[in-house]
Amino acid sequence: MNLKNITSDALVEKYRNREIAVQEVIEDVFDEIDRVDPDLGAFIHTRKDAALEEARVLDQAIANGQTLSPLAGVPVAIKDNMNIRGIRTTCGSKILEEYVPSYTSTAVERLQHAGAIVVGKTNLDEFAMGSSTENSAFYPTRNPHDHDRVPGGSSGGSAAAVAAGLVSLSLGSDTGGSIRQPASFCGVVGVKPTYGRVSRYGLVAFASSLDQIGPFTRTVRESAQVLETICGFDPLDSTSTEVGVEDWTGTLDQPARGLRIGVPKEYFVDGMDTAVRDKIQDAIATLEGLGCKVKQVSLPHTGYAVATYYLIATAEASSNLARYDGVRYGLRVEGATHQEMYRQTRMRGFGSEVKRRILLGTYALSTGYYDAYYLKAQKVRTLILRDFQNAFEKVDLIVTPTCPTTAFKLGEKTDDPLSMYLSDIFTLTCNLAGLPGISMPCGKGSDGMPIGMQLLGNHFEEGQLLRVAHQFEQAGGFNS
Ligand code: GLN
Repeated sequence: MNLKNITSDALVEKYRNREIAVQEVIEDVFDEIDRVDPDLGAFIHTRKDAALEEARVLDQAIANGQTLSPLAGVPVAIKDNMNIRGIRTTCGSKILEEYVPSYTSTAVERLQHAGAIVVGKTNLDEFAMGSSTENSAFYPTRNPHDHDRVPGGSSGGSAAAVAAGLVSLSLGSDTGGSIRQPASFCGVVGVKPTYGRVSRYGLVAFASSLDQIGPFTRTVRESAQVLETICGFDPLDSTSTEVGVEDWTGTLDQPARGLRIGVPKEYFVDGMDTAVRDKIQDAIATLEGLGCKVKQVSLPHTGYAVATYYLIATAEASSNLARYDGVRYGLRVEGATHQEMYRQTRMRGFGSEVKRRILLGTYALSTGYYDAYYLKAQKVRTLILRDFQNAFEKVDLIVTPTCPTTAFKLGEKTDDPLSMYLSDIFTLTCNLAGLPGISMPCGKGSDGMPIGMQLLGNHFEEGQLLRVAHQFEQAGGFNS
């Protein structure tokens, strides 16, 4: 069974009616992974025996008449920067290649508690730094729509696994677009929740003030389902908020009529594909057809977002990655002195993009440069937040393209980090302002590759975001 043709709701319904056993589905998943993944490279490692054992226990429970939760027996994949006790968390890095955590991240634990079956851990740019999954220390992931193209990144493996029908849904992390951009490139739905909605406990930190976990799914309803499962306060994450989880799946069909949608004039830039521009214009017309009122808004500090993000994210990363020193975690390369051991470990353990970011971040935080770079970036971050606060006085949601282009070719941007950074232009502001955002398919480009529409909401307005996205999906029938 290829999971492309069945939603998780329909799958659970089949389990409930005893039309199919969970074990059969999980067996099929691994057959499909064996067949497809050697070329695709979506997974770093899988957990077949454990997954089959969980399926067996669930089949037994079904036979005993146990009522099933909406995610029971649903095959899921987890980005390999979230801990699961007893299996490796590599972060796509040599430095953590053999690291086995002793605890499970809260988001994964909540999915497992709801009965979801984790089949494996997915490929990513090393430490989630990148936009193409080419920075993985192991191998790149390919786009299921065209193997010569990247799936986006950094959660490329999680996006590709869903797009290829290897799993029903997956988790990624989004620091500057790493869920929404690969969702856009692979033609699936991806959500970055409001900062603080999902616990970061057990997520390996990249830039702690920006990181957030979220789902990849084929439909908006499934994303709502995952969010209801993984969101909510966690005392183990001091930045987790106490705002309650709502009945998002139950309110998807409430009318969108009258909602005000803003189109930021700064998000229609030169260098953008004409196909992307056209499809977003069509999408705006579809939203109007749903009864939404569309108006232009301005987010005047957008032009500073890339510079601001790459200062703050690298500064936080340089501090977070100091812990990989050969003493506490993962790889150790011996040296004659302590200093030499640190040096060798970090030199051999980190790839070049991670080193570049540690250097940039250390520089931005160093005495004499702190005020000029880091402090200034924090001030601009506040201006970017204020832009959104002003806009959300006039509109309920904001619509933009997720990316200026469709998926690019493997190798196309690997020698030019700046052009890679610029491809994040539409996704970074959401993280800097802590807002929720979704990317969903809205058509294809002239190259046949998927195009993503991004919707941004005010803090904690996931309900509105999911509702409009769901109705747009119903109106457009863009899922294939
Ligand atoms: N592409 C961005 C970066 O390289 C975002 C990554 C992310 O969201 N993890 O930093």
